[in-house]
Amino acid sequence: MNNYSNSKKFGQKTVLTIYAHADDEVLPAAGTLTIMSKAGWNVRCLILTDGSLSSSSIKGTRHQEAEAAGKIIGATYEFYALEECKFSTQAVIKVVEEAIMRWQPDLIITHAPQPEKYGHRDHEVCAIAVSNVATRKNIALWYSAPPVFVRGFEPNFFVDITSVIEEKIAAIGCYDSEQAKTFMQLDAILVLSRFWARELGQKDGYFEAFEIARQCVNASFFFNLSTSNECAETQKLIM
Ligand SMILES: [Zn+2]
Repeated sequence: MNNYSNSKKFGQKTVLTIYAHADDEVLPAAGTLTIMSKAGWNVRCLILTDGSLSSSSIKGTRHQEAEAAGKIIGATYEFYALEECKFSTQAVIKVVEEAIMRWQPDLIITHAPQPEKYGHRDHEVCAIAVSNVATRKNIALWYSAPPVFVRGFEPNFFVDITSVIEEKIAAIGCYDSEQAKTFMQLDAILVLSRFWARELGQKDGYFEAFEIARQCVNASFFFNLSTSNECAETQKLIM
């Protein structure tokens, strides 16, 4: 594990993303994470595997690519080397519980659990394990959109990422080794971002979609929503 030691500032909110492979985080969430880091959130991306089983002919660069993406979106990374296509739910639960102890996240984002025939096996195991821990520890949990085959994903939270679409494209572009994947290409990124805008009835703009799986709020949540300024828009993200 490569562990970053820069500490959380007092009162700062932390979002912890947990994904099976480096690149899984940027495709569905780079825009939202960029906005959160600009708003002062501590953005931590945990990657479970080293990506060595990727179909890409370029090997061994995924972690450097992730760190380059992190500089753009304002995130720091933590890497594990669980065995791809073989790691167990129990192994992920252990990693996630340790990460929660370290970072005390206010929000966790992970893969959306999907019916088995659609999702990548590693995404599915990760989603189940992370959901188990977040539920037991009562931490807000969002599922992000699958790269393809969105069946089983029920988005109910949409983030306007129009202002940071260039950062999203640049962050995805850091993954040179994965550019042959059709869903990593520019037209696919823009079409999916537009698709979520159309889902909202908007012709223009780019969005990312999430499914809120778990949320718990205190009274200040409603006070924050009742004030209509930029700050309140940010507060909507705070569970
Ligand atoms: Zn993946």
